[in-house]
This record gives sequence, C-alpha cells and structure tokens, in this order.
Amino acid sequence: MSDHDFDDLLAANAAYAEQFEERGFDGTAHAGVAIVTCMDSRIVPLALLGLRHGDAKIFRNPGGRVTPQALEALVIGVHLLGVDRILVVPHTRCAMASATEAELQERVSASAGIDARWQPFHVIDDQLATLAEDVQQVRSHPLIAGKAKVGGFMYDVDTGRLTRHV
Ligand SMILES: [Zn+2]
Repeated sequence: MSDHDFDDLLAANAAYAEQFEERGFDGTAHAGVAIVTCMDSRIVPLALLGLRHGDAKIFRNPGGRVTPQALEALVIGVHLLGVDRILVVPHTRCAMASATEAELQERVSASAGIDARWQPFHVIDDQLATLAEDVQQVRSHPLIAGKAKVGGFMYDVDTGRLTRHV
C-alpha cells in the first residue's frame, strides 16, 4: 500500500466537487423509486431508467438479490425516504448466474492462492425463478406490502433494454 493509491480518484473528485451544485439536497428518493440490482459495472441504474441525481435509492450486491440487507434498505426507503415503486433488476450474463458455487470458489482460490471454499457466493441457479422469489419476498414483507408497487425485471447488458418479468 502506498499513500498515492487513490490519487487519481481524489483528483477527479476535486474536479467534481468544484462543479458540485447539489448543496443542501435532501436524501429522499425524489422520483419515489428504489432499485435492487447487481454490482456489475455494465449497469448504470439511474441512466437506464431516465433518472437523475436524487431520484432513487439504489441497493447493489452480486446478482441483484433481495437479501436481508436489501429488505432493510427497502423498508427504510418506503417508510422514511419517499419510495413507492421498487424494481428488482438482475441482468443477462451475470457472473453470479454463470457458474456453480464450486466453480466460483475454485476460480477465487486460484486467484487468491489459498483455499476459498469457505467463502459462500450464493450463486443463482435459475435467474427468473430467483427473481420471482425475490419479488415475492418484497411484496409480502409486512412493512412493504400495500405501501409500494414491486416489479421484477431483467436488464440486457448488450442492448440496454429492461424487460419486465414479474
Ligand atoms: Zn451481475
């Protein structure tokens, strides 16, 4: 580690802060939207929905799964931050749906040079079935049911198109 590891990013941030015009903006979701999606770098959540700064709450993890932490975020979003529509958005060619748990663990072990079989990755077997289950989890949550509309979508990283499935 060196003291200069993040210099390029801090320099970019200095330029960003120079132009920053969102002073005093509140933290509600101005468009009433929350998105649960994958950490994949090909997904730009606000842009793909025509949204902008301040419009949406975004929760990301590998695979775009509705985890306990995602539910925490959604409950807070719905009750305290103005969310009334929730999109669950996995995507095509997702690494979490393209290998078995054992294969991912093997690849990470090879990269790490140590055994990584103890690290769970929660790979996804059937993306659409998982999406239906995840959406159902959100819809049936006692603190969310009836408070927000919930949809399950698939994002195509090669066309930019979002398709509703649930
Ligand atoms: Zn992914």
